[in-house]
Amino acid sequence: MTADLTIDLDRLMGRIAALGRIGALPGGGCKRLALTPEDAEGRALVTGWFRDLGLDVHTDVIGNCWAIRPGRSSGAPVVMGSHIDTVATGGLYDGVLGVLGGLEVIESAIQAGIETERPLAVAFFTNEEGARFAPDMMGSGVAQGGLDLDEILAKVGIDGVSVAEALAAIGAAGSHPVGALAPDTYLELHIEQGPVLEAEGLAIGVVTGVQGISWTEITVEGQAAHAGTTPMALRHDAGLVAARIAAEARAIADAFGPPQVATVGRIALTPDLVNVIPERAVLTVDLRNADEARLQAAEARLFAQAEAFAAAEGCRLSRRTLARFEPVAFDATLVDAVEAGAAALGLTHRRMPSGAGHDAQMFAPRCPSAMIFVPSQDGISHNIREYTAPEEIAPGVRLLAQVALARAGRVDQKGQTE
Ligand SMILES: [Zn+2]
Repeated sequence: MTADLTIDLDRLMGRIAALGRIGALPGGGCKRLALTPEDAEGRALVTGWFRDLGLDVHTDVIGNCWAIRPGRSSGAPVVMGSHIDTVATGGLYDGVLGVLGGLEVIESAIQAGIETERPLAVAFFTNEEGARFAPDMMGSGVAQGGLDLDEILAKVGIDGVSVAEALAAIGAAGSHPVGALAPDTYLELHIEQGPVLEAEGLAIGVVTGVQGISWTEITVEGQAAHAGTTPMALRHDAGLVAARIAAEARAIADAFGPPQVATVGRIALTPDLVNVIPERAVLTVDLRNADEARLQAAEARLFAQAEAFAAAEGCRLSRRTLARFEPVAFDATLVDAVEAGAAALGLTHRRMPSGAGHDAQMFAPRCPSAMIFVPSQDGISHNIREYTAPEEIAPGVRLLAQVALARAGRVDQKGQTE
């Protein structure tokens, strides 16, 4: 095995801090919603760093941006990417780590005189968060053909501005067409955004895929009545049905075991009064599993039980799907390479699915793709308290370098291809 690439952790942390000052919030964290003036400032800073290294910067029609370090031969690049937009209460690391970590790999390789057969690239994608415009993973989805460009350009955000108008307002759109970035391999380093690695005292999450997501809104219609005069046997209590559905969601997660999770995040009762039996309940159910068959089984059990609870209470039930994504499995060979790389570097690690969506899942159908997780303090993300210590970041970047350089065909100064 060739030597571990030496990365400059201070340089990387300095860049993360500098980008975090753009859109900085009082008390820490930052707000750089996609295609806002803050996003424009962030893009300018990061692409400036790309150009400082002499890299060619490319931008496509949806504002995705990538910079290429040429290889000895032409061909598709090994791309390290993520996003630099944030939610309204974002931290400094979500997305940013994958972009600036990729930049650090390229800069360190240049300084060490390490070349590659294939080109290496670092990229960021427009509106990964979906906090201003839905859906999320917008730029990577358009680039990889999963989302239609014209439909996406017409999407209107929370402030009434369309994607096309917002792109124009900050001059973020480039000339490259959809599909111009066609990676040989896609790698994304990201904070875990969950508590598992920290709880188990591990350095690295070898991400096997992204969980499937099922969001359903359920409406229960009962009958409002006096809480004091209506005998229990004569009630049609929509609130009770909603509560039973919430308890069933937990029971399903308990029965299925990890990685199944189930959440009722919202219950709205009407008329919402202390002495009136609820006539109407609107609730949401969020089910996630890394296995599509298991996810479908969870949905089937929940929906059947919900119908049974409603029938038993003499209520009517209707439901509609708010979102549905099938699980994405990352490339087995590339996942093995990430795991082997972690072992070779002496890093403690485990395999795990991602609980959140990421740009990598949009690339997965098109090219071998994989992700590397590093711990999140207290599992907190999308919060100004989001934090990962420099000493936890360094192993992730070293591993990203290891895998990316191997995939690109590392050539050290002595001229030996790995
Ligand atoms: Zn992210």
